[in-house]
Amino acid sequence: TATVRTPLIAGNWKMNFDHLQAIAFVQKLAWTLKDAAHDYDDVEVAIFPPFTDLRSVQTLVQADKLELKYGGQDVSTHVSGAYTGEISAQFLKKLDCDYAIVGHSERRYRHVESDETVAAKAKAARDAELVPLICVGETAKDLERHEPSAVPANQLRGALIDFKAGDDFVVAYEPVWAIGAGAAATPEQAQNVASVLRRVVAQATDEATAQKTRILYGGSVKADNIVGFMKSPDIDGVLVGGASLDVEGFASIVRYK
Ligand code: PGA
Repeated sequence: TATVRTPLIAGNWKMNFDHLQAIAFVQKLAWTLKDAAHDYDDVEVAIFPPFTDLRSVQTLVQADKLELKYGGQDVSTHVSGAYTGEISAQFLKKLDCDYAIVGHSERRYRHVESDETVAAKAKAARDAELVPLICVGETAKDLERHEPSAVPANQLRGALIDFKAGDDFVVAYEPVWAIGAGAAATPEQAQNVASVLRRVVAQATDEATAQKTRILYGGSVKADNIVGFMKSPDIDGVLVGGASLDVEGFASIVRYK
């Protein structure tokens, strides 16, 4: 029997919305989705707000018993100590986060995070019982020299170095050239890389783990292009940046069916 992977629709807010705006957004999102709960009850929805918003989001989710998961956009490689400005995975866990994004391209390239750093962050998240959402993806320059899956596959191999069969993590394939670009990859392009990434997961863990691991596509996902991705056999959800900042737009993505 085939493994059923629950689709994950994830909104990466990046550095948008302070905690008051976050409260307004989550209340409006919950209200917007309420009437259509049956349309997406087999879909998991998660948001990734800035760290300073997480406590407010936790309070709302708990008080209103919302079916909404949330997590941090990054995490420290360290548990605690003299690391000015960093946030421990354990602190995120205390706020009832389920996830932590690691290796987003904006951190790999703007903050010069190596594959080793991303691996250590993924491990730190896993060790704190968060599910790491591991981002990989090639730049336009990488595509001039390598086949599309080469760089993402290498990044994923690097990130999973300390992972084993049965570990819980999510992979997000985000071609850097498609992020914030307005033009997404085609579903075929995304599927081709996603199927290679699932093989990488199988090699790093085992086949059963590869079958249950969700692989998301990210990069200019919108309500009008999500369906093609969700029809692709190895794509189990999306990581949405810009289009996750509009309540109606994000709600339409969640209700892609
Ligand atoms: P985008 O961002 O949807 O605005 O392209 C995606 C991401 O960076 O996760």
